[in-house]
Amino acid sequence: MALVLFAAGGEDSRGQSLSDFCGALLEGKSGAIYVADLSAPKIICAVGDSAILSGTQKFPPGSVFKIITAVAALEQGIDPRRQVKCTYWYEIPDGERLPCSWRPGHGKIDLVDAVSKSCSFYFYSLIDRGVSIARIENVAKMFFDIPQSPYFAEFYREDGADFPYRFAMGLTGVLVSPKSVLRMITAVATGGELPDFEREKYDKIRLSDDSEWEIIREGLRKTTTTGICAGIFPDSLSVAGKTGTAPLPENPAITCGWFAGYCSTEGKPEYAVVVFLIDATGYTDAAPLAGKIFEFLQHERK
Ligand SMILES: [Zn+2]
Repeated sequence: MALVLFAAGGEDSRGQSLSDFCGALLEGKSGAIYVADLSAPKIICAVGDSAILSGTQKFPPGSVFKIITAVAALEQGIDPRRQVKCTYWYEIPDGERLPCSWRPGHGKIDLVDAVSKSCSFYFYSLIDRGVSIARIENVAKMFFDIPQSPYFAEFYREDGADFPYRFAMGLTGVLVSPKSVLRMITAVATGGELPDFEREKYDKIRLSDDSEWEIIREGLRKTTTTGICAGIFPDSLSVAGKTGTAPLPENPAITCGWFAGYCSTEGKPEYAVVVFLIDATGYTDAAPLAGKIFEFLQHERK
């Protein structure tokens, strides 16, 4: 597939060398990488397959979508400190069993650690604790430009009883572009500032309580310190983020992998990075590439 390299802003030499670097990381792979400078906000690198960059092709977000489900749970008044005991298999009311992401299960786990360890069991349980598809859908619409309600309902009819659980997991019912994931993770990083990268301005997303942003960000930060990405990012980079892996709808034998995250200096988010790869997983493939990009950004700043 064609690899498109460009630096947003053109004259920006920092953006150009960053794009060369990210383009080299994608060599021989299919996917896309975005980097945004959050002070503007401005996309300083967008490289990858042209159909992905243009937004023509969209993909299931996988566990990256757990960020949305977690916000929906908080909006619904779910107590984030209340623990659920993950025993690996989650039985839904019709008797079907759905697996967690990790064997033999995470044991007792609260919302922050469920985000950091990507515990699917916890997120399945939210559906049975009353977090509705409509609630998740409404939160998704705050962050993503996605079709109106009937879109989700259609998927519901197709997929049957496990739909709400798989939807909460980002495996069905919603398709997103890597650029829209960059907007979403930027909004989380900044505590609700949804970026318009073209106009270099922010619009505010308002949640019921500002403390919800802090809870989500704590989970994303723990992802790289004690969660599933522990050891991938040098601690000095102060990276927070989320991985995701999902089968492609047109060919479920192949998965796509995501990492969406940001680095901060003295608590202030500086750069957001999205790595999206086809025929890959989020944890083993996308997250390590994101680590190289954050290191590159830190070196350039020195
Ligand atoms: Zn679990």
